[in-house]
Amino acid sequence: MVDSLTKFDLEHIWHPYSSMTNPVSPLLVESASGIFIKLQDGKELIDGMASWWSVIHGYNHPVITSEAKNQLDKMSHVMFGGLTHEPAINLCKKLISITPSSLTKVFFSDSGSVAVDVAMKMALQYWQSKGFKKKTKFVALRGGYHGDTLGSMSVCDPDTGMHHLFKDLIAQQIFIDKPTSKFGKQVSQTEIDQIEKLIQSKKDTIAAIILEPILQGAGGMHFYSEDYLRYIKETCEKNNILLIADEIATGFGRSGKLFACNYADIEPDIMCLGKAMTGGYLSLAATLTNQEISDGICSGEGKVFMHGPTFMGNPLACKISETSINLLLAEDWHSNIKRIQKKLNDNLISYKNHRKIKDVRVLGAVGVIESKDSVDMKKVQSLLPDTGVWLRPFGKLIYTMPPYIIKDNEIDRVCDVMLTIAEECS
Ligand code: PMP
Repeated sequence: MVDSLTKFDLEHIWHPYSSMTNPVSPLLVESASGIFIKLQDGKELIDGMASWWSVIHGYNHPVITSEAKNQLDKMSHVMFGGLTHEPAINLCKKLISITPSSLTKVFFSDSGSVAVDVAMKMALQYWQSKGFKKKTKFVALRGGYHGDTLGSMSVCDPDTGMHHLFKDLIAQQIFIDKPTSKFGKQVSQTEIDQIEKLIQSKKDTIAAIILEPILQGAGGMHFYSEDYLRYIKETCEKNNILLIADEIATGFGRSGKLFACNYADIEPDIMCLGKAMTGGYLSLAATLTNQEISDGICSGEGKVFMHGPTFMGNPLACKISETSINLLLAEDWHSNIKRIQKKLNDNLISYKNHRKIKDVRVLGAVGVIESKDSVDMKKVQSLLPDTGVWLRPFGKLIYTMPPYIIKDNEIDRVCDVMLTIAEECS
């Protein structure tokens, strides 16, 4: 059966960033529970990826599953135009209470990429309403990743984001170098000088700077200085530019703070959340902004914000999200992330001088091996089922961001397999 299902899949179903003519065979999953993904052939893999940052409490958590079932019995969906419901209201209250205090206006959408598009549209509508019609460009950081829709893609790294494939379709934005000032260090004067020069020459056209605070994820798993982030916020304020913080990957504790912005103690004008927001149960995202921006948007042409997805504020997703956030806050998540960070660090640091490895780095519950050569994904995919660990490297990056329930001995196992991949597949 495994073979016939996989064969059908290979012939008919696209997977992320995949080829239909030369596909890498996917592993067939039967179920998932706790830290484990169970394959159809009975093998169990420790999930080192938390299904791309999202499954923070592990799979099939009894409390979340039970709340989801209760909500299903009431309603799984109802349109949000002209109607509202407690799950959305309660989640909104929760998000407002845990994010920076000025962020009090919440827009729900279905995915991280859309939440970023929404943020960009908010910034544009705000400046238009204020009469700054030329402020239509976004400044983004090289090495950044913000999603795959046309708007969000325009602010992803222009080289790794393969902008050239879509060059007539996506907006041309302004890029600054990937931050070089290291986490825990001051921002360098050279970096400040470069950014100042660029901002001064283009500030009349810039609507916002968009960045992933502290931790650039899918664009390179790169960590940078809190002071850099603080400096960007200051420069935005001085130059009449908005700051959009994309916390879709970093949010909900992953970086070691509840939100990575907290490292620099800054309040962005707009914040995007997703991924771990539902504990990985369903797709739901949010774009939060402040009173000033929302008043601006609603006093401009049309006097409304122009976005409204069909599944906006989906009650099932909202209920699950609120439950997941409550679970997180009820635990000593901070000490737990510190434990994971220490354990990852203890393991990975010992690989630092390995002949195949260029760098290792850890921040919060994220551990990265950067190998000297690219990883062969076909080899990885055939090796993993027998290692008992699930990982999904890309390029030269072999990394883990496990569910927060991972135990110390399981972290050891994940790190062992990361090393095996570096040795045997790169
Ligand atoms: N922003 C960041 C920082 C991300 O990591 C991602 C997803 N990897 C996105 C946006 C896009 O989110 P989604 O895949 O839910 O559209």
